[in-house]
Amino acid sequence: MSGLKIETIVVHSGSEPEFNGWSVVPSINLATTFVQEYPGVKPGRDDPNSYGNGFFYSRQANPTRGAFERALAATERANFCCAFSSGLAATQAVIQLLNAGDHVIALDDLYGGTTSFFRNIAGPKSDIRFSFMDLDDLQQLERTVTKDTKMIWLESPTNPLLKTTDIRKITEFAKRRGLLVAVDSTFMSPYLQRPLELGADIVIHSVTKFISGHSDVLMGAVVVDSAELNSNLRNVQNLCGAVPSPFDCYLALRGLRTLPLRMNAAMNNAQKIAEALQGHAMVEKVIYPGLPSYPMFEVANSQTDGPGAMIAIYIKVLLCAMCSAVYF
Ligand SMILES: *Cc1c(COP(=O)(O)O)cnc(C)c1O
Repeated sequence: MSGLKIETIVVHSGSEPEFNGWSVVPSINLATTFVQEYPGVKPGRDDPNSYGNGFFYSRQANPTRGAFERALAATERANFCCAFSSGLAATQAVIQLLNAGDHVIALDDLYGGTTSFFRNIAGPKSDIRFSFMDLDDLQQLERTVTKDTKMIWLESPTNPLLKTTDIRKITEFAKRRGLLVAVDSTFMSPYLQRPLELGADIVIHSVTKFISGHSDVLMGAVVVDSAELNSNLRNVQNLCGAVPSPFDCYLALRGLRTLPLRMNAAMNNAQKIAEALQGHAMVEKVIYPGLPSYPMFEVANSQTDGPGAMIAIYIKVLLCAMCSAVYF
């Protein structure tokens, strides 16, 4: 699918009919267990983008999940995708690739759930050490790397303050030092940003958001090019067990089919709303990558195919001396 436009890929990928009983959409395969051709011999075609060796038990590999995983991998123009039961389960799986005592340098403005997971679970319970910092300052980054540092974790743009990080700059830095770069790309979706093409090693999505797109699925995904990372992630997916249901995989794949159309509509709306809010008397500041006032406008333009559909605003707080109330 490499030569095709994303609009075409999202419509056709994951539906290879030989995986799906020759139907044009995958069936919702609810089976937990699959017939063995022979004791220990799994049925089904080898699917390197699912567990890799046919079907046996649905925690390891499920045909509907495989359809979604192949489709999202193709959309991200990547080799492999592992689906999880939520964005945070996907985040957790990536942290499970590390060992106790390893050090992660993380951006200081991440999705709140990610920061809480790092600080309250992965840190104290798994002894993964985190340094939170502004990744724009390469000298500071250099000083923060220790012999135990294994990974740089960032989100671009961030939830909620829409901070853009120069992904190429960070991945160049990381490659020279043998560090993995993980990028939570949820706010852009693969339609607007593909961090593996910018040198990153791991992409995390909360599929719950733009990819599934209809507020009825909680799901996550990790996308990689490296067969070794894929194999380690498949182990975590199977042995930690935070897998999505076949029905959720079906819905997420159905959502993915219209990702470009929805993203374009949402982006057009966001641009108009951001421009209107800029002139509003009660608004202090509007942060939107589609406005020329956006602090990382050039970098954002150079690594994405559009400004996305999320807007952050600062609201003016008026202090009324007469009644000492705070008005928003
Ligand atoms: C929502 C979100 C997550 C967490 O995903 P869930 O599917 O809610 O677990 C992670 N990162 C970002 C940027 C998000 O917006």
